[in-house]
Amino acid sequence: MSVITRFAPSPTGRIHVGNVRTALINWLFAKRSNGEFMLRLDDTDVQRSTQEFADGIKRDLEWLGLTHDLFARQSDRFARYDEVADKFKGEGRLYACYETPDELARKRKRQLSRGAPPVYDRAGMSLSDEQKKSFEAEGRKPHWRFFLEDKTMAWDDLVRGSQTIEASSLSDPILIRGDGSYLYTLPSVIDDVDFAVTHVVRGEDHVANTGAQIQVFEALGDHLPEFGHHNLLVGADGGRLSKRIGSLSVEGLRESGLEALSVTSFVSTIGTSDPVAPFASLEALADNFDFAKLSRAPARFDERELVALNAKSLHERDFARVRSDLESLDVGGGEAFWLAIRGNIEKLGEVRDWWNIVQGPIEPKIEDRSFCQTAAGLLPEGDWDENTWGQWTSQVKETTGAKGKALFMPLRLAVTGLDHGPELRALLPLIGRKRAFARLQGQSA
Ligand code: GLU
Repeated sequence: MSVITRFAPSPTGRIHVGNVRTALINWLFAKRSNGEFMLRLDDTDVQRSTQEFADGIKRDLEWLGLTHDLFARQSDRFARYDEVADKFKGEGRLYACYETPDELARKRKRQLSRGAPPVYDRAGMSLSDEQKKSFEAEGRKPHWRFFLEDKTMAWDDLVRGSQTIEASSLSDPILIRGDGSYLYTLPSVIDDVDFAVTHVVRGEDHVANTGAQIQVFEALGDHLPEFGHHNLLVGADGGRLSKRIGSLSVEGLRESGLEALSVTSFVSTIGTSDPVAPFASLEALADNFDFAKLSRAPARFDERELVALNAKSLHERDFARVRSDLESLDVGGGEAFWLAIRGNIEKLGEVRDWWNIVQGPIEPKIEDRSFCQTAAGLLPEGDWDENTWGQWTSQVKETTGAKGKALFMPLRLAVTGLDHGPELRALLPLIGRKRAFARLQGQSA
């Protein structure tokens, strides 16, 4: 049986690092298994779902490289959901309830004050036709609950191992709201059955849903997928990420200049037994993927670590792999420039800053006018290479007596305008004699 996984976001917003983790785990497992990955838009909430968010999610996944083999949109499938709902109603598996949210809240409060679990009392099941009619005459619309059989639901979770949930600990779930709209529970199971999803992998906030959904699967036939519930992300301080989640959207990370592969490498290795490291490709990540490596403790998301990983991957990158990116950033200098500056950037866009420094014009910083004049006069003639800096500075040292920092810093400040940066041995030949000479004279060049 070929593996089919799915990522099922609701297009009521853009996706963030938390969702990326779910998408990635599903994608990596599908690829590693030579299976298929489905993108399913859970857009049964027609009020809050928008085409714009749906398009945005697709773009986010495309940028991350998480291409899908199968696609479905729940709003295309209402006829199918209605068909199943009618069948369940006919069988008495779905029953009408008329409580208002306030009434339900009061019931729960009474149960809790008696020390009883706040499980729905199934009052809806014993309503007579007259009582239902009189509720409807009052203008109440029924919502529909799914009757859970009294038994233990058990599954062998791909991440958490053996799991059991007692049906008696759960309220019969509402599958259809008073306005006739579907909660995600029923459409999700119908789709998982109809599209033959073999592995349902999602965050551990869905564990209780899985308990109830197993009974929905059983009511629909004999297709029961495997389930996996991965750990959730927490912030660097161990607290919830939700407050900052806006800045942690895929869109936000992309706009901040991070590489997609750094995001995917990072998000798929935090919270696992693997060290966080830059991977060369999604395929390499997929080869490395194993549910057994996922830890049960929350996965810590520290944006600074992500930036450090991004930097590390750039520091190690060969010129051949950035050549076209550099061209599109309108940066010249070829391999010599890349090798000179790659160790000094955290995000690729920063190459522009260094290219501007090489090309000029920049404002030199002159601390000691006569020292810089002398140094300018000692600039070697002829072609410059990696040895030029050494030859020049030995001359300057000999002539002026300056050494160490007192020798190097004024020269760096003059030729780059900065007190830090790539090795001048590599940068100076790129800046070239003409610009270096002018800058040492204090001219903008
Ligand atoms: N739309 C649901 C969510 O985003 C999908 C959950 C699932 O994977 O079944 O929470």
